[in-house]
Amino acid sequence: MKYAVKESPRITVPVAGQDMVFPVRRIFCVGKNYADHVREMGGDPERGTPIFFTKPADAIVKHNRPVPYPPATENLHHEIELVIAIGREGADIAPQNAQDHIFAYGVGIDLTRRDLQAEAKKKGAPWDTAKAFDHSAPISALHTVSDIGHKTAGNIWLNVNGQERQRGDLSQMVWNEKEIITALSALFTLKPGDLIYTGTPAGVGPVKTGDRIEGGIEGLDTITALIQ
Ligand code: MN
Repeated sequence: MKYAVKESPRITVPVAGQDMVFPVRRIFCVGKNYADHVREMGGDPERGTPIFFTKPADAIVKHNRPVPYPPATENLHHEIELVIAIGREGADIAPQNAQDHIFAYGVGIDLTRRDLQAEAKKKGAPWDTAKAFDHSAPISALHTVSDIGHKTAGNIWLNVNGQERQRGDLSQMVWNEKEIITALSALFTLKPGDLIYTGTPAGVGPVKTGDRIEGGIEGLDTITALIQ
């Protein structure tokens, strides 16, 4: 079959230490998953149901690549997050089986047009323009569960130009990885290639052109994003 328009290239993420790449299908994100971040955004960290939103697969930016400062914002924010890479299909996944669907973990940055998000929240409008823009999802190489086991605790941090902005621990998540996968798979059939950005601890803030963002998670890679 001939394509009617130019075919988009397959989006992939490197798998650390292995001669293979992870083909990205969809990007899901969890909102409000660390109580101290919910409070800094003026919210109530009471546990309800998880908030999910999405980004397109081609929002992915690999480690150490430039991130163009996006249009239509004057308040671009960094959010450092653990990323879960799904390796096995499933719907209505029970919590006790959830970890079987995880192939690997990575370090991601959920870049956010905070001014557009604030406007959307005020109007009760969708978050797409605030979250799902081009180059909004930098990510490190992935480390497989078979190499490193499961990531349920460990330091998570982010610096801008060498200055610490965010620091927390994965154990502070409001919804842990099992609960996230159970809740998300009740809404969508998860498939190999899906990524889940699992939310950010406190300390989010603005970045500008020329800034160098570095972030990491204990036992995973450090990711660098250069805002240009
Ligand atoms: Mn986020």
